Amino acid sequence: MLSQDITHYEIVIVGGGVAGLCAAAFCGDNFRILERNNEAGKKLLFAGSGQCNITHAGKISDFLTQYGNNQKARFVKPALFAFDNIAVTRFFAERGITLFEREDGKIFPQSMQSQEIRDALFKPIKEKILVNTTVKNVTKIQDGFLIETESSTFLSTKLILTTGGCSYPSTGSKGDGLKFAKSLGHKIITPQPALVPIIVQNFKFADSAGTSFLQTQIEIFRNKKRIYCCNGDVLLTHRGLSGPGILDLSRYIKPLDEIRISIIDAKSESEIFIGKKTLKNVLANSGIPLRFVIQLLHQLDVPLDLPAAETPREIRQQLKFVSFTVEQTGSWNEAMSTAGGVATDEINRYTMESRIVPNLFFAGEILDVDGNCGGYNIQFALASGKLAATSAQNLTY
Ligand SMILES: Cc1cc2nc3c(=O)[nH]c(=O)nc-3n(C[C@H](O)[C@H](O)[C@H](O)COP(=O)(O)OP(=O)(O)OC[C@H]3O[C@@H](n4cnc5c(N)ncnc54)[C@H](O)[C@@H]3O)c2cc1C
Repeated sequence: MLSQDITHYEIVIVGGGVAGLCAAAFCGDNFRILERNNEAGKKLLFAGSGQCNITHAGKISDFLTQYGNNQKARFVKPALFAFDNIAVTRFFAERGITLFEREDGKIFPQSMQSQEIRDALFKPIKEKILVNTTVKNVTKIQDGFLIETESSTFLSTKLILTTGGCSYPSTGSKGDGLKFAKSLGHKIITPQPALVPIIVQNFKFADSAGTSFLQTQIEIFRNKKRIYCCNGDVLLTHRGLSGPGILDLSRYIKPLDEIRISIIDAKSESEIFIGKKTLKNVLANSGIPLRFVIQLLHQLDVPLDLPAAETPREIRQQLKFVSFTVEQTGSWNEAMSTAGGVATDEINRYTMESRIVPNLFFAGEILDVDGNCGGYNIQFALASGKLAATSAQNLTY
């Protein structure tokens, strides 16, 4: 017999972030969101530096390459196709919010205010959100789930876990949901910071912090073997490397990996090491920031007045790319996403329901899904939130 103090809802959503709030929009009436913070959607307020890059332009099929590998593409496809970037735009338009596409394809609210997005999700269901309510424990019982907080217990027939991952723990996502999932029998892929800057061993370019290399070739080597290669924008920081190209690759990077950034491509090579102009000026005129050129030449013991044509062969080789050894990735406090989480092979991708525990659903960053920079994480959180909620509504056992 259950005590009379236990309140029963058809659906309980644990976590009022973007996935939980979007799920709530499709949950009917008999549900509650339990949220540990004193407000819902706290992380959303930080998104896109407070401007909220909510999704991306282009065909939804092009999104599939933005989550790491083919297995991830396969997993995210049904959710993204059922609630794509066009549907997201329509969803917010119905709530009075106009989205616009920036030149780089990123989509933001016209107001450039994350708060507007947060409020559009939260206001229609605010009576259903129990804030300052931290879930401590979740148990499967015959009739559903017992959800315990510090001061109360809830019973739900269906449970949707949207507690996020471990990134930016100050916003409330501290990995609790992973513990709940594990206790319910789910496999957890060890979480690690993603979309995070890289700290470089013995970094020599701190004075060039702020310097960017646009669409440059980035290679990652582990034990001298190349494991990843792509083109992207790189930004030098005071401690190492950042910028979208590095952030996107950070999910793969481990301490002691070598990162190589090409600064001279094969095409421009033949035009650089010729003539009487100084190597310094030729490099700077080729688009490499002067401050960085000077630091690099100092490191290679190359005189700043060396004529380009007299550059020794080994220096020519060393100038093709700059190599950095990874000390570590940045911390959870800097990571914008979480690689790892609830293993997706135990989740039905057409419903977001657990294959292990019936009536248990997952959405958002709690899952082992992390997207690249560009709005792909919020798009997945919205789409998986909607899919989990609509599935929870329709499925009966
Ligand atoms: C600084 C920053 C900028 C970002 N910018 C972008 C961007 O521009 N575009 C983009 O696509 N993505 C961006 N992201 C990533 C994106 O915000 C996240 O992927 C997304 O918010 C994940 O949503 P979620 O609902 O799964 O998790 P979260 O937003 O983390 O929400 C989880 C919620 O669960 C609550 N919770 C956790 N444990 C408990 C518990 N035990 N009891 C009760 N409640 C609990 C938390 O308090 C939190 O409110 C950014 C992330 C950061 C940190």
